Amino acid sequence: MQAAVVEAFGAPLVMREWPVPTPTAGQIVVRTEACGVCHTDLHAAHGDWPVRPALPFIPGHEGIGLVTAVGAGVTLVREGDRVGVPWLYSACGHCEYCLSAWETVCAEARFGGYTQHGGFAEYILADPRYVAHVPSGLTATAAAPIICAGITTYKGIKETTARPGEWLAVSGVGGLGHLAVQYGKAMGLQVCAVDVDAGKLAHALRLGADAVVNAAETDDTAAAVVTATDGGAHGVLITAPSLDAFAQGIAMTRRRGTCVLVGLPPGEFPVPLFDVVARCLTIRGSFVGTRQDMAEALDFAASGAVVADVELQPLTAINDVLTRLAHGQVASRVVLDFAASQGA
Ligand code: NAD
Ligand code: ZN
Ligand code: ZN
Repeated sequence: MQAAVVEAFGAPLVMREWPVPTPTAGQIVVRTEACGVCHTDLHAAHGDWPVRPALPFIPGHEGIGLVTAVGAGVTLVREGDRVGVPWLYSACGHCEYCLSAWETVCAEARFGGYTQHGGFAEYILADPRYVAHVPSGLTATAAAPIICAGITTYKGIKETTARPGEWLAVSGVGGLGHLAVQYGKAMGLQVCAVDVDAGKLAHALRLGADAVVNAAETDDTAAAVVTATDGGAHGVLITAPSLDAFAQGIAMTRRRGTCVLVGLPPGEFPVPLFDVVARCLTIRGSFVGTRQDMAEALDFAASGAVVADVELQPLTAINDVLTRLAHGQVASRVVLDFAASQGA
Protein backbone atom coordinates (compact mmCIF):
# COMPACT_ATOMS: atom_id res chain seq x y z
CA MET A 1 0.00 0.00 0.00
CA GLN A 2 1.00 3.64 -0.39
CA ALA A 3 1.89 5.47 2.81
CA ALA A 4 3.31 8.88 3.73
CA VAL A 5 6.07 8.10 6.20
CA VAL A 6 8.12 10.20 8.64
CA GLU A 7 11.64 8.84 8.24
CA ALA A 8 13.48 11.73 9.91
CA PHE A 9 12.20 14.52 12.19
CA GLY A 10 11.87 17.85 10.43
CA ALA A 11 12.26 16.30 6.96
CA PRO A 12 9.50 15.97 4.35
CA LEU A 13 7.39 12.83 4.60
CA VAL A 14 8.35 10.09 2.15
CA MET A 15 5.74 8.47 -0.09
CA ARG A 16 6.57 4.80 -0.19
CA GLU A 17 5.29 1.25 -0.35
CA TRP A 18 4.42 -0.22 3.05
CA PRO A 19 3.04 -3.69 3.77
CA VAL A 20 -0.75 -3.92 4.15
CA PRO A 21 -1.30 -4.90 7.80
CA THR A 22 -2.95 -8.20 8.68
CA PRO A 23 -5.01 -8.41 11.88
CA THR A 24 -4.06 -10.77 14.66
CA ALA A 25 -6.55 -11.80 17.34
CA GLY A 26 -8.53 -8.82 18.61
CA GLN A 27 -7.43 -6.47 15.83
CA ILE A 28 -9.09 -5.09 12.71
CA VAL A 29 -7.90 -3.59 9.45
CA VAL A 30 -9.55 -0.48 8.05
CA ARG A 31 -9.32 0.60 4.42
CA THR A 32 -8.83 4.35 4.62
CA GLU A 33 -11.40 6.52 2.87
CA ALA A 34 -10.34 9.85 4.36
CA CYS A 35 -7.91 11.21 6.94
CA GLY A 36 -7.79 14.74 8.33
CA VAL A 37 -4.49 16.54 8.76
CA CYS A 38 -4.13 17.90 12.30
CA HIS A 39 -1.51 20.37 13.52
CA THR A 40 -0.47 17.53 15.85
CA ASP A 41 0.77 15.65 12.76
CA LEU A 42 3.11 18.56 12.19
CA HIS A 43 4.35 18.45 15.80
CA ALA A 44 4.83 14.67 15.40
CA ALA A 45 6.76 15.00 12.13
CA HIS A 46 8.98 17.67 13.71
CA GLY A 47 9.54 15.69 16.92
CA ASP A 48 8.34 18.74 18.87
CA TRP A 49 7.29 17.04 22.11
CA PRO A 50 9.22 15.50 25.03
CA VAL A 51 8.18 11.94 24.07
CA ARG A 52 8.93 11.37 20.39
CA PRO A 53 7.52 8.63 18.18
CA ALA A 54 9.87 5.85 17.05
CA LEU A 55 11.04 6.30 13.45
CA PRO A 56 9.87 5.48 10.85
CA PHE A 57 6.16 6.05 11.46
CA ILE A 58 2.95 6.86 9.57
CA PRO A 59 1.14 9.91 11.04
CA GLY A 60 -2.60 10.61 10.88
CA HIS A 61 -5.22 10.23 13.63
CA GLU A 62 -8.37 11.36 11.83
CA GLY A 63 -8.57 8.28 9.60
CA ILE A 64 -12.04 7.05 8.58
CA GLY A 65 -12.64 3.92 6.56
CA LEU A 66 -14.42 0.63 6.11
CA VAL A 67 -13.43 -2.46 8.07
CA THR A 68 -11.96 -4.94 5.60
CA ALA A 69 -10.63 -7.65 7.92
CA VAL A 70 -11.26 -8.74 11.50
CA GLY A 71 -9.00 -10.87 13.66
CA ALA A 72 -10.15 -13.80 15.77
CA GLY A 73 -12.49 -12.95 18.61
CA VAL A 74 -13.58 -9.53 17.30
CA THR A 75 -17.29 -8.99 17.93
CA LEU A 76 -17.58 -5.21 18.32
CA VAL A 77 -17.32 -4.40 14.62
CA ARG A 78 -17.95 -6.27 11.41
CA GLU A 79 -16.51 -6.14 7.93
CA GLY A 80 -18.03 -3.20 6.07
CA ASP A 81 -18.61 -1.04 9.16
CA ARG A 82 -17.44 2.58 8.84
CA VAL A 83 -15.11 3.42 11.71
CA GLY A 84 -12.53 6.03 12.67
CA VAL A 85 -9.08 5.36 14.07
CA PRO A 86 -8.48 8.20 16.52
CA TRP A 87 -5.60 9.59 18.56
CA LEU A 88 -6.58 7.38 21.52
CA TYR A 89 -5.65 4.16 19.76
CA SER A 90 -6.01 1.96 22.84
CA ALA A 91 -5.70 1.93 26.63
CA CYS A 92 -5.31 -0.77 29.27
CA GLY A 93 -8.98 -0.94 30.24
CA HIS A 94 -8.42 -1.74 33.91
CA CYS A 95 -6.42 1.03 35.64
CA GLU A 96 -8.10 3.60 37.89
CA TYR A 97 -8.37 6.03 34.95
CA CYS A 98 -9.84 3.52 32.53
CA LEU A 99 -12.30 2.34 35.17
CA SER A 100 -13.48 5.89 35.82
CA ALA A 101 -13.94 6.70 32.10
CA TRP A 102 -10.73 8.71 31.87
CA GLU A 103 -9.04 6.34 29.45
CA THR A 104 -7.39 9.36 27.80
CA VAL A 105 -4.90 9.58 30.69
CA CYS A 106 -4.22 5.85 31.01
CA ALA A 107 -0.47 5.36 31.46
CA GLU A 108 -0.57 2.55 28.91
CA ALA A 109 -2.51 4.53 26.32
CA ARG A 110 -1.23 4.26 22.77
CA PHE A 111 -1.67 6.97 20.19
CA GLY A 112 -2.74 6.71 16.54
CA GLY A 113 -0.32 8.24 14.07
CA TYR A 114 2.24 8.56 16.87
CA THR A 115 3.08 5.40 18.81
CA GLN A 116 0.97 3.38 16.32
CA HIS A 117 0.92 3.80 12.54
CA GLY A 118 -1.88 6.11 11.46
CA GLY A 119 -4.11 7.13 8.61
CA PHE A 120 -1.73 8.66 6.07
CA ALA A 121 -1.86 5.23 4.41
CA GLU A 122 -4.32 3.14 2.45
CA TYR A 123 -4.95 0.72 5.35
CA ILE A 124 -4.82 1.12 9.13
CA LEU A 125 -4.48 -1.57 11.79
CA ALA A 126 -6.80 -0.75 14.71
CA ASP A 127 -8.13 -1.89 18.07
CA PRO A 128 -11.91 -2.31 17.69
CA ARG A 129 -12.49 -1.41 21.36
CA TYR A 130 -11.32 2.15 20.71
CA VAL A 131 -12.44 2.98 17.18
CA ALA A 132 -15.03 5.66 16.51
CA HIS A 133 -18.35 4.41 15.16
CA VAL A 134 -19.37 6.75 12.35
CA PRO A 135 -23.13 7.39 12.31
CA SER A 136 -24.86 6.56 9.04
CA GLY A 137 -25.51 9.74 7.12
CA LEU A 138 -22.08 11.17 7.90
CA THR A 139 -19.61 10.80 5.05
CA ALA A 140 -16.02 9.77 5.66
CA THR A 141 -14.66 13.20 4.73
CA ALA A 142 -17.20 14.96 6.98
CA ALA A 143 -16.49 12.62 9.90
CA ALA A 144 -12.69 12.77 9.71
CA PRO A 145 -12.14 16.15 11.47
CA ILE A 146 -14.67 15.24 14.16
CA ILE A 147 -12.60 12.34 15.51
CA CYS A 148 -9.77 14.64 16.67
CA ALA A 149 -10.57 18.34 16.16
CA GLY A 150 -14.23 17.81 17.02
CA ILE A 151 -13.93 15.58 20.06
CA THR A 152 -11.03 17.65 21.45
CA THR A 153 -12.90 20.92 21.33
CA TYR A 154 -16.21 19.43 22.46
CA LYS A 155 -14.51 17.88 25.49
CA GLY A 156 -12.47 21.02 26.11
CA ILE A 157 -15.61 23.15 26.18
CA LYS A 158 -17.20 20.74 28.67
CA GLU A 159 -14.06 21.07 30.78
CA THR A 160 -14.50 24.87 30.95
CA THR A 161 -17.77 24.18 32.85
CA ALA A 162 -19.23 27.27 31.14
CA ARG A 163 -23.02 27.13 31.17
CA PRO A 164 -25.55 28.13 28.50
CA GLY A 165 -25.68 31.89 28.10
CA GLU A 166 -22.15 32.37 29.42
CA TRP A 167 -19.15 33.40 27.36
CA LEU A 168 -16.66 31.06 25.75
CA ALA A 169 -13.50 32.52 24.23
CA VAL A 170 -11.84 30.35 21.58
CA SER A 171 -8.24 31.30 20.88
CA GLY A 172 -7.17 29.90 17.49
CA VAL A 173 -9.97 29.24 15.00
CA GLY A 174 -8.23 26.85 12.63
CA GLY A 175 -8.89 23.11 12.39
CA LEU A 176 -9.87 22.76 16.05
CA GLY A 177 -11.22 26.24 16.64
CA HIS A 178 -13.65 26.42 13.72
CA LEU A 179 -15.36 23.39 15.25
CA ALA A 180 -15.09 24.85 18.78
CA VAL A 181 -17.09 27.89 17.64
CA GLN A 182 -19.84 25.59 16.38
CA TYR A 183 -19.86 23.28 19.42
CA GLY A 184 -19.93 26.34 21.67
CA LYS A 185 -22.97 27.75 19.90
CA ALA A 186 -24.67 24.33 19.81
CA MET A 187 -24.08 24.09 23.58
CA GLY A 188 -25.83 27.43 24.14
CA LEU A 189 -22.77 29.57 24.82
CA GLN A 190 -21.88 33.03 23.57
CA VAL A 191 -18.65 32.71 21.62
CA CYS A 192 -15.79 35.17 21.18
CA ALA A 193 -13.25 33.95 18.60
CA VAL A 194 -9.61 35.09 18.68
CA ASP A 195 -7.10 34.56 15.88
CA VAL A 196 -4.27 36.36 14.09
CA ASP A 197 -5.86 35.91 10.66
CA ALA A 198 -8.69 38.17 9.48
CA GLY A 199 -10.01 35.53 7.07
CA LYS A 200 -10.38 32.98 9.86
CA LEU A 201 -12.21 35.51 12.03
CA ALA A 202 -14.59 36.37 9.18
CA HIS A 203 -15.26 32.66 8.89
CA ALA A 204 -15.85 32.40 12.66
CA LEU A 205 -18.54 35.08 12.34
CA ARG A 206 -20.17 33.11 9.52
CA LEU A 207 -20.12 30.05 11.80
CA GLY A 208 -22.01 31.95 14.50
CA ALA A 209 -19.37 33.65 16.66
CA ASP A 210 -20.89 36.55 18.60
CA ALA A 211 -17.66 38.56 18.74
CA VAL A 212 -14.16 38.34 17.26
CA VAL A 213 -10.78 39.78 18.25
CA ASN A 214 -7.80 39.94 15.94
CA ALA A 215 -4.72 39.29 18.11
CA ALA A 216 -2.41 40.51 15.36
CA GLU A 217 -4.09 43.93 15.20
CA THR A 218 -4.70 44.51 18.91
CA ASP A 219 -2.10 45.77 21.37
CA ASP A 220 -3.85 44.09 24.28
CA THR A 221 -5.76 41.06 23.03
CA ALA A 222 -6.89 39.94 26.48
CA ALA A 223 -8.29 43.40 27.29
CA ALA A 224 -10.20 43.39 23.99
CA VAL A 225 -11.74 40.02 24.86
CA VAL A 226 -12.61 41.18 28.39
CA THR A 227 -14.44 44.14 26.85
CA ALA A 228 -16.19 42.01 24.22
CA THR A 229 -17.33 39.49 26.83
CA ASP A 230 -18.47 42.06 29.38
CA GLY A 231 -15.89 41.20 32.04
CA GLY A 232 -13.99 38.18 30.71
CA ALA A 233 -14.93 34.79 29.34
CA HIS A 234 -16.37 32.24 31.78
CA GLY A 235 -14.59 29.57 29.77
CA VAL A 236 -11.49 29.96 27.61
CA LEU A 237 -10.33 27.30 25.17
CA ILE A 238 -6.82 27.83 23.80
CA THR A 239 -6.24 25.87 20.62
CA ALA A 240 -3.62 28.20 19.11
CA PRO A 241 -0.22 26.54 18.61
CA SER A 242 1.43 29.72 19.93
CA LEU A 243 2.81 30.38 23.42
CA ASP A 244 1.66 34.04 23.26
CA ALA A 245 -1.94 32.84 23.10
CA PHE A 246 -1.57 31.01 26.43
CA ALA A 247 -0.58 34.04 28.50
CA GLN A 248 -3.34 36.01 26.77
CA GLY A 249 -5.83 33.22 27.48
CA ILE A 250 -5.35 33.44 31.22
CA ALA A 251 -5.74 37.21 31.16
CA MET A 252 -9.05 36.96 29.25
CA THR A 253 -10.58 34.52 31.76
CA ARG A 254 -13.35 35.93 33.94
CA ARG A 255 -12.97 35.86 37.73
CA ARG A 256 -13.61 32.30 38.90
CA GLY A 257 -13.53 31.19 35.26
CA THR A 258 -11.70 28.25 33.72
CA CYS A 259 -9.00 28.42 31.09
CA VAL A 260 -8.58 25.12 29.24
CA LEU A 261 -5.24 24.46 27.55
CA VAL A 262 -5.51 22.38 24.39
CA GLY A 263 -2.92 23.68 21.91
CA LEU A 264 0.47 22.02 22.18
CA PRO A 265 3.24 24.30 20.91
CA PRO A 266 6.57 23.11 22.28
CA GLY A 267 7.84 25.05 25.28
CA GLU A 268 6.53 26.68 28.44
CA PHE A 269 4.71 29.88 29.28
CA PRO A 270 4.74 32.00 32.45
CA VAL A 271 1.69 31.82 34.72
CA PRO A 272 0.89 35.13 36.49
CA LEU A 273 0.55 33.64 39.94
CA PHE A 274 -0.99 36.65 41.71
CA ASP A 275 -3.70 37.00 39.06
CA VAL A 276 -4.57 33.33 39.10
CA VAL A 277 -4.79 33.28 42.90
CA ALA A 278 -6.53 36.62 43.44
CA ARG A 279 -9.04 36.06 40.63
CA CYS A 280 -9.62 32.42 41.65
CA LEU A 281 -8.97 31.06 38.16
CA THR A 282 -8.81 27.42 37.16
CA ILE A 283 -6.23 26.39 34.57
CA ARG A 284 -6.87 22.94 33.18
CA GLY A 285 -5.27 20.76 30.53
CA SER A 286 -7.51 18.74 28.24
CA PHE A 287 -6.44 15.86 26.02
CA VAL A 288 -8.72 14.68 23.19
CA GLY A 289 -11.75 12.93 24.74
CA THR A 290 -13.11 9.59 25.84
CA ARG A 291 -15.10 7.16 23.73
CA GLN A 292 -18.29 8.57 25.19
CA ASP A 293 -17.18 12.11 24.24
CA MET A 294 -16.48 10.72 20.75
CA ALA A 295 -20.00 9.35 20.39
CA GLU A 296 -21.48 12.66 21.57
CA ALA A 297 -19.23 14.75 19.32
CA LEU A 298 -20.20 12.59 16.31
CA ASP A 299 -23.90 12.92 17.19
CA PHE A 300 -23.63 16.72 16.96
CA ALA A 301 -22.13 16.29 13.49
CA ALA A 302 -24.70 13.71 12.40
CA SER A 303 -27.50 16.07 13.46
CA GLY A 304 -26.01 18.85 11.33
CA ALA A 305 -25.42 21.15 14.33
CA VAL A 306 -21.68 21.02 13.69
CA VAL A 307 -20.22 20.80 10.19
CA ALA A 308 -16.51 20.49 9.52
CA ASP A 309 -15.19 22.69 6.74
CA VAL A 310 -12.99 20.47 4.66
CA GLU A 311 -10.61 21.00 1.77
CA LEU A 312 -9.96 17.70 0.01
CA GLN A 313 -6.46 16.80 -1.14
CA PRO A 314 -4.79 13.58 -2.29
CA LEU A 315 -2.33 11.77 -0.02
CA THR A 316 0.49 12.77 -2.37
CA ALA A 317 -0.09 16.44 -1.44
CA ILE A 318 0.78 15.84 2.21
CA ASN A 319 4.05 17.77 2.32
CA ASP A 320 2.48 20.81 0.71
CA VAL A 321 -0.42 20.58 3.17
CA LEU A 322 1.93 20.38 6.18
CA THR A 323 3.91 23.40 4.93
CA ARG A 324 0.70 25.40 4.57
CA LEU A 325 -0.43 24.31 8.04
CA ALA A 326 2.87 25.48 9.53
CA HIS A 327 2.29 28.92 7.97
CA GLY A 328 -1.36 29.28 8.95
CA GLN A 329 -2.47 28.93 5.33
CA VAL A 330 -5.10 26.21 5.79
CA ALA A 331 -8.56 27.78 6.07
CA SER A 332 -10.04 25.12 8.37
CA ARG A 333 -9.17 21.45 7.86
CA VAL A 334 -7.52 19.58 5.01
CA VAL A 335 -8.79 16.04 4.64
CA LEU A 336 -6.83 13.55 2.56
CA ASP A 337 -9.31 11.88 0.22
CA PHE A 338 -8.42 8.31 -0.68
CA ALA A 339 -11.51 7.62 -2.78
CA ALA A 340 -10.06 8.88 -6.04
CA SER A 341 -6.82 6.89 -5.85
CA GLN A 342 -8.70 3.72 -4.89
CA GLY A 343 -11.31 4.14 -7.60
CA ALA A 344 -14.04 3.88 -4.94
P1 NAD B 1 -4.39 24.86 12.97
O1 NAD B 1 -3.04 25.21 12.45
O2 NAD B 1 -5.43 24.33 12.05
O3 NAD B 1 -5.05 26.13 13.71
C1 NAD B 1 -4.34 26.96 14.58
C2 NAD B 1 -4.97 28.35 14.54
O4 NAD B 1 -4.34 29.16 15.53
C3 NAD B 1 -4.82 29.06 13.21
O5 NAD B 1 -6.08 29.54 12.79
C4 NAD B 1 -3.85 30.19 13.52
O6 NAD B 1 -4.08 31.33 12.70
C5 NAD B 1 -4.18 30.45 14.98
N1 NAD B 1 -3.16 31.17 15.74
C6 NAD B 1 -1.81 31.13 15.60
N2 NAD B 1 -1.22 31.96 16.48
C7 NAD B 1 -2.22 32.51 17.21
C8 NAD B 1 -2.25 33.45 18.27
N3 NAD B 1 -1.14 33.97 18.78
N4 NAD B 1 -3.46 33.80 18.78
C9 NAD B 1 -4.60 33.28 18.27
N5 NAD B 1 -4.62 32.39 17.26
C10 NAD B 1 -3.46 32.01 16.73
O7 NAD B 1 -4.10 23.81 14.16
P2 NAD B 1 -5.11 22.73 14.82
O8 NAD B 1 -5.09 21.47 14.03
O9 NAD B 1 -6.36 23.40 15.15
O10 NAD B 1 -4.29 22.38 16.18
C11 NAD B 1 -4.04 23.40 17.13
C12 NAD B 1 -3.19 22.91 18.28
O11 NAD B 1 -3.95 21.98 19.06
C13 NAD B 1 -1.90 22.18 17.89
O12 NAD B 1 -0.86 22.57 18.78
C14 NAD B 1 -2.26 20.71 18.11
O13 NAD B 1 -1.15 19.88 18.37
C15 NAD B 1 -3.15 20.84 19.32
N6 NAD B 1 -4.05 19.70 19.55
C16 NAD B 1 -4.25 19.31 20.84
C17 NAD B 1 -5.12 18.29 21.12
C18 NAD B 1 -5.36 17.88 22.53
O14 NAD B 1 -5.92 16.80 22.76
N7 NAD B 1 -5.02 18.70 23.52
C19 NAD B 1 -5.79 17.63 20.08
C20 NAD B 1 -5.58 18.07 18.78
C21 NAD B 1 -4.72 19.11 18.52
ZN1 ZN C 1 -5.37 15.92 16.18
ZN1 ZN D 1 -5.76 2.26 31.77
